[in-house]
Amino acid sequence: MHIDIAILGAGITSSAIAFELSKYNKNVVVLEEENDVSLKTTKANSGIVHAGYDPKPGTKMARLNVEGSLLIHELYPLLNFHYEQIGSLVIGSSEKDHQIINDLYERGVQNQVRDLRILKTADEVHHLDPNLNPQIDYALYAPTAGITSPWELCLALAYTAKVNGVDFVFDCKVLDITKNGDVFDIKTSQGNYQATYVINCTGTHADEIYKMVLKDRQDESFEITPSKGEYYLLDKDQGHLVNHVIFQTPTELGKGVLVSPTVHHNLIVGPDADYEFATKDDTDNLQKGLDYVRDSAKRSTDKINFGSNIRNFAGIRATIKGFDDFFIEESKAVPHFINFAGIKSPGLSCGPAFGKEAVRMLLLSGMNLTLKTDFKYYRLPTFFSNMTLREKEESIKNDKDYGQVICRCETVTLAEIKNAMHAPLPGTTIDAIKRRTNAGMGRCQGGFCGPKIFEIIKNEFHLSYDEVYQDRKGSKIVLEETKGK
Ligand SMILES: Cc1cc2nc3c(=O)[nH]c(=O)nc-3n(C[C@H](O)[C@H](O)[C@H](O)COP(=O)(O)OP(=O)(O)OC[C@H]3O[C@@H](n4cnc5c(N)ncnc54)[C@H](O)[C@@H]3O)c2cc1C
Repeated sequence: MHIDIAILGAGITSSAIAFELSKYNKNVVVLEEENDVSLKTTKANSGIVHAGYDPKPGTKMARLNVEGSLLIHELYPLLNFHYEQIGSLVIGSSEKDHQIINDLYERGVQNQVRDLRILKTADEVHHLDPNLNPQIDYALYAPTAGITSPWELCLALAYTAKVNGVDFVFDCKVLDITKNGDVFDIKTSQGNYQATYVINCTGTHADEIYKMVLKDRQDESFEITPSKGEYYLLDKDQGHLVNHVIFQTPTELGKGVLVSPTVHHNLIVGPDADYEFATKDDTDNLQKGLDYVRDSAKRSTDKINFGSNIRNFAGIRATIKGFDDFFIEESKAVPHFINFAGIKSPGLSCGPAFGKEAVRMLLLSGMNLTLKTDFKYYRLPTFFSNMTLREKEESIKNDKDYGQVICRCETVTLAEIKNAMHAPLPGTTIDAIKRRTNAGMGRCQGGFCGPKIFEIIKNEFHLSYDEVYQDRKGSKIVLEETKGK
């Protein structure tokens, strides 16, 4: 089968591009090495929809951040992912901090971020967020900043792309790419694909993928330097400690450690920026990074009870050293090969704007794009825990599986788990069900519901015990039967 556009990777960048392209009459295929969308950087970040005052004016990052955050605001009622526009504060307490905050304000104005305001007294700051430390006396207030669930946003875009005809091929690692005449030959772990355009959205591996197609023009490439960010995720008893996303004043290392409620009412604290030990795929936590996060967060509020921590995790930034923007370009060396590379923060916030940008680039490159007349949005199902009492009663009346709670921490029902297993991109592993339903996301972290979900997956898909995975292909939970041996 000939493909018009092959999108490599299935994180937020790719899913957003697939979403936008699914509005047009083109044959689009997403090729992803893992067994689900959002398994790399897209699932491990702060989940903040940045307002757009941080990127340097004039950069693609600045333009796409502002456009993307507006689009997320427009899309959440249509796609039903979790999103709240809670606003953010960049806080400060010294003369130097005040100057940085003033500069950020100026940047924000140039980037056309709406409604930015500087809070110039401790009273004004503490009126908005009373649990911040008393010495904080200055802040940049960005009411348009928000919080979202990164994997839900990614799933919502990918589901809509799928129901509108985009094909997602999982467990499909791109091994080599060659351009023969006008056609790209893409060699993968699942056979070969031919495409007219290739869009490279492979995150921390985008440099390796670009080098595949460059062949003897390696000097045109770029290098991705990974940087790891570590997090604490605290229980819901800490979720109301702050009302906004609380940033410290940024340094040359990045936006610094933030403290924020999550859309599921937990508290997230992090990240650090570790270049020393980071590798492209290693997301194991390091004590050094976690200690740094914990100590730094105390500068914002000393009221966090880290005893309520329920999980640590880490994400990897795809940074191009010495280049302070996204690398979004059609290759000059290999026309029709488009890089969306170096997609570090605020890549999540840009998400839907990447889709619009890809369409603009394809049009400029000469592609003929015609809008479909039957494009439709796919709404994520509302969580049972978010339903009104009447909606809950109605759901149980229509499907008795809504009456059986499987995950008690997050009140996730059997019906929701079964729906997730038959979604447009089915959840086939325990963590895929978690990302689709929130089951296992609570205080016990799947300790109680995990074995039940294991059984449900096994029975629903008629699998043997050792074919049920925790997450990635091969991440077995049960190795073999021991009883009776
Ligand atoms: C610590 C941290 C905090 C962040 N916080 C925020 C935030 O609060 N707000 C915000 O806006 N942004 C944030 N970001 C940035 C945001 O998370 C990223 O910009 C975004 O997730 C990048 O998505 P992506 O799709 O480009 O990459 P990824 O999500 O990494 O996706 C790339 C995909 O390509 C696949 N792939 C790789 N190689 C191959 C191959 N050979 N064949 C097939 N597939 C392949 C991978 O498996 C992966 O699924 C943060 C990032 C980090 C690390």
